[in-house]
Amino acid sequence: MFQKVLIANRGEIALRVHRACKELGISTIAVHSTADASAMHVSLADESVCIGPPAAKDSYLNMAAIVAAAEITGADAIHPGYGFLSENARFAEILAAHDIAFIGPSADHIRVMGDKIAAKETMGNAGIPLVPGSEGGISDTAEAMKVARDIGFPVLIKAASGGGGRGMKLAQGPEDLEQAIFTAQAEAKAAFGDDTVYLEKYLGQPRHIEIQIAADSHGNVIQLGERDCSLQRRNQKVLEEALSPALTRAQREQIGETTRAAIEKLGYLGVGTIEYLYENNEFFFIEMNTRLQVEHPITEQITDVDLVREQIRIAAGESLAYKQSDIKFKGHSIECRINAEDPVTFTPSPGKITNFHAAGGPGVRFDSAVYAGYTIPPHYDSMIGKLIVFGDTRELVLARLRRALDETVITGINTTIPLFQRLIDNPDFRNGDYNIHWLENWLAETSG
Ligand code: ADP
Repeated sequence: MFQKVLIANRGEIALRVHRACKELGISTIAVHSTADASAMHVSLADESVCIGPPAAKDSYLNMAAIVAAAEITGADAIHPGYGFLSENARFAEILAAHDIAFIGPSADHIRVMGDKIAAKETMGNAGIPLVPGSEGGISDTAEAMKVARDIGFPVLIKAASGGGGRGMKLAQGPEDLEQAIFTAQAEAKAAFGDDTVYLEKYLGQPRHIEIQIAADSHGNVIQLGERDCSLQRRNQKVLEEALSPALTRAQREQIGETTRAAIEKLGYLGVGTIEYLYENNEFFFIEMNTRLQVEHPITEQITDVDLVREQIRIAAGESLAYKQSDIKFKGHSIECRINAEDPVTFTPSPGKITNFHAAGGPGVRFDSAVYAGYTIPPHYDSMIGKLIVFGDTRELVLARLRRALDETVITGINTTIPLFQRLIDNPDFRNGDYNIHWLENWLAETSG
């Protein structure tokens, strides 16, 4: 097992990794920008190194500074968290060259899944169902038009290097296609430095359902059920639940086993998530995330598996502590992403937290790195905490969620807590009757 792990991240996920390390008897090293000198992840870690100025490109994305920090402190592994360098194949290669373990999959798997066209091809070959679309990238409109007419409009133009919902354009009919390709290419070029785009059938009312997997270096692969992440705003997840209220046990077993078998075929190592759109009883692969996800705790709550602990153990060459037959789903769990934002306009709201009290009690977990007196810097993501509730039934979880939201105190800044307090009274949400467009429609109807 590793002796010392450097955590190349900040915020709640840096704390989450620190906690898993401590429980494994591993000493931790925090890295931080000058803006994060008084952050919780820095004060909790055994050692810390300042790696640069506030801008992420100069600090949390600064590979040279992070590798130097690992060498100086004698770290034998780096955990990248999510975001930042977590899906950077080059970073994984550089660490290998420095004999530092990367707590994540191989650089090759990161690279394949980071290119959505290659990912679709690879997953299709491994037996995963795909969204109908172009085979590979599209460059000219005539060729795209032919594919679009074959699969039928509306279609979506997506960036091969896409992420965070960017570089995605909808063409309702043939008249929109040329413009959609052009704007998707321009957006992709600006955001990712790569203007390769591909075409996919646009699904009108799907749910976003993703399967958590874990695979070790001894050939063991397990799947830990699904998370329903359909409640989204601008293609970004807002609230997630496990298991999905929309699947039957048979559907769950079928997609779980299809996914597990494909991952086994790929020879993948580490934890990962395979994302699908689900419509009319069919699953369609959209992408694979080769890292820990923000919403991993809801899976932990219903399976009793500590995913970060397993992830670290796998990277250290150990066997998974669970066989597939050990994975039993217990009760229900919901996560709300609490952002430092205005709950109506979603304008970011950095600044000083004057008072803070996390909800607690039965079935409540609050993963956060904020405290009373902490000043949220304006340079990073606005997510400041995750309220995770769990219980035997979805109904109990909804009641707990309400009381936990009411109990949470965060003053001095705006947060999205009132959004969830409003959402929880909605009958569609209470019935689990929603798709990926539902939240935006509801926001549009109720915020004016
Ligand atoms: P990103 O990596 O940018 O997050 P994804 O491919 O994961 O992109 O898609 C993000 C979200 O965009 C999905 O959860 C879904 O809401 C929507 N989306 C993606 N592909 C399609 C599609 N073919 N039809 C309808 N919606 C889609």
